[in-house]
Amino acid sequence: MIGCDCEVCTSTNKKDKRLRSSIMVESATTRLVVDATPDFRYQMLRACVKNLDAIVFTHPHKDHVAGLDDVRAFNFFSGKPMNVFANEMTQEVIIREFPYAFADTKYPGVPEIRLNTIAFDEFTVGDIKVIPILVWHMKMPVLGFRFGKFTYVTDANRIDDEEKEKIRGSEVFVVNVLRKQAHVSHFSLGEAIELVNGLNIPTVYFTHISHQLGLHQTIETELPKNIHLAYDGLSLNMGM
Ligand SMILES: [Zn+2]
Ligand SMILES: [Zn+2]
Repeated sequence: MIGCDCEVCTSTNKKDKRLRSSIMVESATTRLVVDATPDFRYQMLRACVKNLDAIVFTHPHKDHVAGLDDVRAFNFFSGKPMNVFANEMTQEVIIREFPYAFADTKYPGVPEIRLNTIAFDEFTVGDIKVIPILVWHMKMPVLGFRFGKFTYVTDANRIDDEEKEKIRGSEVFVVNVLRKQAHVSHFSLGEAIELVNGLNIPTVYFTHISHQLGLHQTIETELPKNIHLAYDGLSLNMGM
């Protein structure tokens, strides 16, 4: 956190250095990113991403959409608009926040975006099948996504029972945890452990972690064996 000198913010462990939450999902032929954070540009540079087929959005909060302007580099090299998948609420915010990308007469070089609507049904990006999962961020509906045996849920503090069924059977489940203390719109550590225990998932990673949670190394030793803290650059091979 800017200006903070707590033990996490001053830690020399790379795993305590966190950019905003996002994931990249790749098959042999297709690559997508979930959310375009304010760190999107640096995240793409850091991972040496040369082409990207789509960005899939969870919800319209700024820490998940602010980086969308930077798709212009992908537009430039591919010569194509970026496919964006979002629900209607998120699309409204994208159009409001990046009006120049949707103007009738566009300034040359603006980001080229093709909006695709996510309803409740599964959809595909290239050869990647995506199942949306509705979760709650206080009162805001947010989309989690299941890709085969991998499920990603961020910015939630509650999941209805029917939607939990869509997570069940995942081999890896990534879910947000902010800190130990309760929060109005994010799972606390205890709430997330309870959720995960009810789902019987072999491997779980916590993400969207605040500096208030504590040092990576310390928290990691306190967690049940199947649960880990995610960290920037973590890569998982799902064999799909
Ligand atoms: Zn949020
Ligand atoms: Zn967030």
